[in-house]
Amino acid sequence: MRNILPALILSLSCSVFAQNSTDKLIQEAQAAPTLEKNLRVLTDEVGGRVPGTPAMERAVQWGMDAFKAAGADAVRSEPVPMAASWDEGSTQVDVVSPVQFHARAVSLTWTAPSNSPVQGFPVVDVGEGADEDFKKATNLKGAIALVHSNVMKNWDDLFAEYLKLGALLQAAKAAGATAVAFISTREQDLLYRHIGSFNDRINNYPQMLLAREDGERIARLLEAGKQVRMRYAIPNRVGGPFTSHNVVAEIKGREKPNEFVVLGAHLDSWAMGTGALDNGCNAALVIEALRAIKASGLQPRRTIRFALFTGEEELNVGSFEYVRTHRAEMDNTVAMLTWDEGTGKMTGFSVGGRKDLVNPIAKLLDPVKQFDAMMLTTDAFVGTDNMDFLLEGVPNLVANQEEANYLINYHASSDTYDKVDFPQLRKHVAVAAYLTFAIADAPERLGPRQNRAEIESLIQETHLDEQLKAFELWEAWQSGKRGRAK
Ligand SMILES: [Zn+2]
Repeated sequence: MRNILPALILSLSCSVFAQNSTDKLIQEAQAAPTLEKNLRVLTDEVGGRVPGTPAMERAVQWGMDAFKAAGADAVRSEPVPMAASWDEGSTQVDVVSPVQFHARAVSLTWTAPSNSPVQGFPVVDVGEGADEDFKKATNLKGAIALVHSNVMKNWDDLFAEYLKLGALLQAAKAAGATAVAFISTREQDLLYRHIGSFNDRINNYPQMLLAREDGERIARLLEAGKQVRMRYAIPNRVGGPFTSHNVVAEIKGREKPNEFVVLGAHLDSWAMGTGALDNGCNAALVIEALRAIKASGLQPRRTIRFALFTGEEELNVGSFEYVRTHRAEMDNTVAMLTWDEGTGKMTGFSVGGRKDLVNPIAKLLDPVKQFDAMMLTTDAFVGTDNMDFLLEGVPNLVANQEEANYLINYHASSDTYDKVDFPQLRKHVAVAAYLTFAIADAPERLGPRQNRAEIESLIQETHLDEQLKAFELWEAWQSGKRGRAK
């Protein structure tokens, strides 16, 4: 008894101390005193951030400055080579017969400049652009394929829009279509950036997005038996290879400085709006999490890296480059966490197919259960910066969030500062700061790094292979260009 009592008191006082410091960290994080200003400057003063533009480089400087002001132990930018630059010119699309009207339209991303003849091309309705739709349409040679869409309502609709794209473009090309015109998934004339290339290389196939109202009018004319001709001028500005940058800040670990937990979010955006929900809010979250941990006075056992990635919109170019540059550290990278779904309420995390992580994460989350973000899902998906960490076998977490106002504003001119739900975002800062710290501070690693065979079976089990194929990443994984070699 004599020996147990002091030990008990000691462990009680330790846990009281730990409880107080944890509370302080959570309070600091939720107060997030620099969150609004940082995000306002990034969105209103820097603006939309397409890699290769001066705005993206200003954003990199913004990140460096903000991390320093937040008290980082170290801050640097890391070069990210990109294959080609792209910027939209003044896209013009007009229906020239049987009636003349201007169709509101934008180019799809990373596509080459292109022009139709003045008399335009005939338009052919290919329904939703399934394989059988293209087989049914016999008159596509030299025509523009008009592709219908449903109004986007949830995450599944968003994924469906992306997942069908590769096969659709192949079918359109095979059928001889000269260009593809997609009808917008948003109503009220809203246009947005839809991807026309699955990487940072220029795609030579002309693709455009039509305002829903104009696209449906064209479809009704076709349905009524009219022959519709449409002309376009898409004067995109394209350039050669260039170097963009990730921003990486650190809080050094006290006991295992050479083990790392990465909290990252992409800094780049499209430039129709100012990239507030996608993903400025979460770039600001990462900076605020660093500030909160420093302000709490806690020093984690392991080093925490806070990363703002470039080129996510060109399919995770910046986070892939991080993984390549730091490949020798992947054995010592304990976990990667990311946020990329705006400011809708967090429900929990996707654990990238790792069932073995569910229990340890659930335990770590207990002190932040008041935020009601405890649900863990064992799915794995292509879609944001965790992907190359997953392919390296590194435990990875992506915040799962409700759609809220994310999808209506997704990649659109309406993705601006006023859409951000700050009270909700503050709660996410608290969860991010706390969980990142807890993983970095835990005596045991969150889970092992998977080897190639284990990653392969995770990919099969979660059907991630289908997504990797749809996003044209399968070959890079198969050939070992991307992902863990052994
Ligand atoms: Zn994003």
